[in-house]
Amino acid sequence: MRKDFSVFSKRATKKSGVEVITPLAMKLKAKGLEDKGADIVHLEIGEPDFDTPKNISEKGIEAIRNGYTHYTSSQGIIELRKEIASYITRTREIDVSPEEVIITPGGKDIIFFTMMALLNEGDEAIVQNPGYYTYETDVKLFGAKAVPLPLLEKNDFSFDGELFKKLITPKTKLIALISPANPTGNMFSKEDLELIAEQAIKNDIYVLSDEIYSRIIYEGDFLSIASVKDMKERTILLDGFSKTYAMTGWRLGYGVANKELIKIFNKFMVDSNSCVSAFTQLAGVEALAGPQDAVERMRAEYRKRRDYIINALNEIDGISCNMPKGAFYAFPNIKSFGLSSNEFALKLLNAGVATIPGNTFGEYGEGYIRISYANSMENLEKAVKRIKKAVSRL
Ligand code: PLP
Repeated sequence: MRKDFSVFSKRATKKSGVEVITPLAMKLKAKGLEDKGADIVHLEIGEPDFDTPKNISEKGIEAIRNGYTHYTSSQGIIELRKEIASYITRTREIDVSPEEVIITPGGKDIIFFTMMALLNEGDEAIVQNPGYYTYETDVKLFGAKAVPLPLLEKNDFSFDGELFKKLITPKTKLIALISPANPTGNMFSKEDLELIAEQAIKNDIYVLSDEIYSRIIYEGDFLSIASVKDMKERTILLDGFSKTYAMTGWRLGYGVANKELIKIFNKFMVDSNSCVSAFTQLAGVEALAGPQDAVERMRAEYRKRRDYIINALNEIDGISCNMPKGAFYAFPNIKSFGLSSNEFALKLLNAGVATIPGNTFGEYGEGYIRISYANSMENLEKAVKRIKKAVSRL
């Protein structure tokens, strides 16, 4: 099969004639303005603004000093796989063994590996829309069709079970779920997960469950589809350290899946990354086994910022914004201004606020923008003032 690499250029430049602006592309645009002297508040990239907790960084540094600077097992060191297995067993209430865990340089590899292992040309994968853009790109990269599962504002960006059932065909090989979601912050309910599980079992479909924001929740309890009866074997659970422990640059994530799939993922690791750096994995052991108070402090801070930014956005004439239940993104509706998401986001950029147009996350994101509130209150307040001023001129 000849791969279609235009999926990348389409994403980065033009899709159906509309420019698709990823967070990194927006950051570059902002940099262009900053180089000319502009002051920009950066709300485009989805990464914690906090430093990695000190106990974790210290363990990483200590590991380098102690010579943990060599290759490890490609599946990951047993100490970390044991910690992860125990953490997932505790939090998802399923029995997980270290053999069912693989450590990767970020959760993102699990998306790529899952698509590479499960999808062939002509297959279909159901992906949330709006949803993290990597899913659609990776599905297409492996010659499969990305079937959008619309998450609509009128349903609080949640799930329409009847519509979902209609999307399943004999070609459906994978359902990808992100909960809490990027970019909408919504979470699937127990009923949603049970319905998806029922369909996955009935139609013999794997589920990729992206749980990278599972520790950044403000309302309700986190629920994993892997905990639903008979779902463990057909779920690929993705989680990691980037968001929960503010470790985006360390590159550390993991997948939990049945042993057969983990063996395949391990082959991908052998022939691509070889392994995650040893000291990063040891820092990961400290993250999971050490004190968790920093996680709680960061979550409380995100919550304060969420309450501030959502209320402030709703006070601006013409903007309405649902209250997200988790993650650190606001996804306001900007349809009343009669501009496309791109036009609106570029207007805001020129007014000194970098955001992401909603259509970057799929066609159902058109008419929205994504704002990352993983930024200081001071910057959020500055951004709100600038947004108010910019929209008053529209
Ligand atoms: N999944 C979702 C939904 C994300 O938003 C991100 C990062 O933004 C990732 C996965 C990848 O995270 P990482 O590769 O840093 O672990």
